[in-house]
Amino acid sequence: MNEFSLETTNSFKDFLSQADLDRLSLTPISRKAHFVVENSSLNADSLAEKLAQISKLEYLKDFEIAPNAEKILSVKLICEYQCLPSKESTDNQLVLVSAWIPSEDEVSWIISQTGRIPIWKISSCTKIAEKISQSFGIGSDSLGMEEGDEFADINDDDIAEDENAAIIKFVSEIITKALADRATDIHIEPQKNSLTIRYRIDGNLLPVKLPENLTRFKDAIISRLKIMARLNISEKRRPQDGRINFVSKSGSDIDIRISSLPTMYGESISLRLLTQKSQPVTIADLGFMTEDQAKLEIPLSRPHGIILVTGPTGSGKSTTLTAFIRKLRNPEVRIITVEDPVEYEVEGVNQTQVQAEIGLTFSAVLRSVLRQDPDIIMVGEIRDRETADIAIRASLTGHLVLSTLHTNDASGALTRLIDMDIEPFLIASSVEMILAQRLVRKLCTCKQPAMLDSHYLESCLTSLGIKDDNKDFSNIHKAVGCPKCRSIGYYGRLGIFEILLASDALHDMIINRRTARDIRNAARKGGMRTLQECGWQLVKNSLTGLEEIMAYAHSDE
Ligand SMILES: [Zn+2]
Repeated sequence: MNEFSLETTNSFKDFLSQADLDRLSLTPISRKAHFVVENSSLNADSLAEKLAQISKLEYLKDFEIAPNAEKILSVKLICEYQCLPSKESTDNQLVLVSAWIPSEDEVSWIISQTGRIPIWKISSCTKIAEKISQSFGIGSDSLGMEEGDEFADINDDDIAEDENAAIIKFVSEIITKALADRATDIHIEPQKNSLTIRYRIDGNLLPVKLPENLTRFKDAIISRLKIMARLNISEKRRPQDGRINFVSKSGSDIDIRISSLPTMYGESISLRLLTQKSQPVTIADLGFMTEDQAKLEIPLSRPHGIILVTGPTGSGKSTTLTAFIRKLRNPEVRIITVEDPVEYEVEGVNQTQVQAEIGLTFSAVLRSVLRQDPDIIMVGEIRDRETADIAIRASLTGHLVLSTLHTNDASGALTRLIDMDIEPFLIASSVEMILAQRLVRKLCTCKQPAMLDSHYLESCLTSLGIKDDNKDFSNIHKAVGCPKCRSIGYYGRLGIFEILLASDALHDMIINRRTARDIRNAARKGGMRTLQECGWQLVKNSLTGLEEIMAYAHSDE
């Protein structure tokens, strides 16, 4: 095998500046391909093809890793050379897929380690990095240092320093991967003899594959996160919370809320990634059906009254409120919000944040907001009687108020307000619209026709409380699973909605203190589509699977 490095470097003359070419020759082999991709117009695939061409090695667009890869080559060597034993390998023949053309040193080192002369092939650096983290866990290259390592002829200080750098790198990789996977939360949970890290993606928790030797870095990882959030690292007995400003790979600032909770085996750390902060969400993005979107127009154009969005935590209420605020903002209206925390930034809107620890609760801030001459007020959540009272009164005195309540369905919000001791006539005269919502997962493009039994479907409809005269079930699809959706079959989420609009009949029912169920039944007769019915439409349109909607069966009882 020849020494390709000089030749290889020269082949990139057209793509890299002289300074970058010099830096490339100093870059460790594990990073060379990434360096070229980051600093030239070549993407990972075109670079790999070019490397294959130069070295006359075979280029693989994709490949399968050998099942016992780490027995053939140590994880450390795999990471250090960014090369993987492929599934094509047999007892007699070792096939190694590399992200860069192997150097003479690498070749002889690998021969001495494996006792075999490998056949080299080339694949893209992103493909190889992805397969390494899938097979050996995120951070296997940074935390892959094994005890009694073959390179461990260095002193203890150096090891400590290396470990520290490795942990900093690992924590940043965990967050970067979470962002790439569209996670909303990261949970770091110490167990008796291990550490678990899980991402919440599309509402579901998914364990993250981690290197096996992670346990010994457990405390260091937790301390690193606490340092990033400027928490007190010596305080381990009391819960703490704070925030991290994380700069992503693309250079944007990500606001992360962190909280720690002492558990049996150490502190559990939760990170909430407020990634959507600068995303311009509009009503059209929320997934309303056309006729539902039209229903929103009237209440949103009123000069006063209250609009409530209801649903459990994580049902997308604040996203909806933000979309409403975006629609309402214009230079002639003054909009003030009170939020906990501010999840989205909206230009031209005055957003304030609740800070309970210094006495700035929703009700306290709301009182100050009213002295600021607002036209439209958004209150993140009505949690107590005081906030409810101020919000309702404000909506009766010439303000349009938007808020959220924690109830299962739209009619439940009315009884919740009555339970909070708000006078029914105040509620009846102020409420313009109540929107209940949930998020359901969207079927990935790998979906397939479900071919469900019609008797089974009829029984599902009964438990969802739906009468559907259109018996065309041909377009119902089921989740399958592919690499894009990590074999889950779902990718992304969609809203389902139930819209209760103010009417004379509703007004009378509130004043007469009718039950939520009576109100719901009357509203349905008046044409309100329930959450379940809205979800069923999505199932029939093959946007979501039946099991996503069945989770909401019987929820009106
Ligand atoms: Zn898929």
